[in-house]
Amino acid sequence: MRLLLVEDEPALQRQLKTALEGVGYAVDAAGDGEDGHFLGATETYDAVILDLGLPKIDGITVLERWRRDGRAMPVLVLTARDSWSDKVAGLDAGADDYLAKPFQMEELLARVRALIRRTSGLASSEIEAGPVVLDTRSSRVTVNGEAVRLTAQEYKLLAYLMHHKGKVISRTELTEHIYDQDFDRDSNTIEVFVTRIRKKLGVDLIRTVRGLGYCLEDTPA
Ligand code: CA
Repeated sequence: MRLLLVEDEPALQRQLKTALEGVGYAVDAAGDGEDGHFLGATETYDAVILDLGLPKIDGITVLERWRRDGRAMPVLVLTARDSWSDKVAGLDAGADDYLAKPFQMEELLARVRALIRRTSGLASSEIEAGPVVLDTRSSRVTVNGEAVRLTAQEYKLLAYLMHHKGKVISRTELTEHIYDQDFDRDSNTIEVFVTRIRKKLGVDLIRTVRGLGYCLEDTPA
């Protein structure tokens, strides 16, 4: 899952990026509305965290422009404390949720999880596929109750496939959703990751769809 974070306070941006990366998201960060708008208009994100008070272009305008251009990714806006008018303006501009500053990191992480879950049509923060359970709260994976150790990239890839269970996902799409923009992307490594994940899970739920990509299913391929 790849996120865009638009926050102009350097300390808060760093803190948020670290926390989000720590739980397994690929994160692109922007420090003003212009950069933020550009990234959201040109890159693919599973969710966006958007501060409303931003230099160059304010958050509401950024959001309105994305929505006008048909960018439908879920957006959580960060509002000033107790500003009910910010919340109303944010929701009216197309935000899916809001969080008032200052906030607890745990609450932000829970709201981001909920946004992504809703977009994927999932009801619970634990996603199951056959014997495999991915807990999006702890970023842990188990098979038949036994913990499986995945690298950060392997987790990102498996999490994306689990969130889109039963759908064929191309290598390009996987590449877009598991790396941040600074990462040296190579879609060939996707195959390497898939092979490693299959081996570590010990159960082959990831079907290779020749010429199209991969599809994660409840039963072994
Ligand atoms: Ca701000």
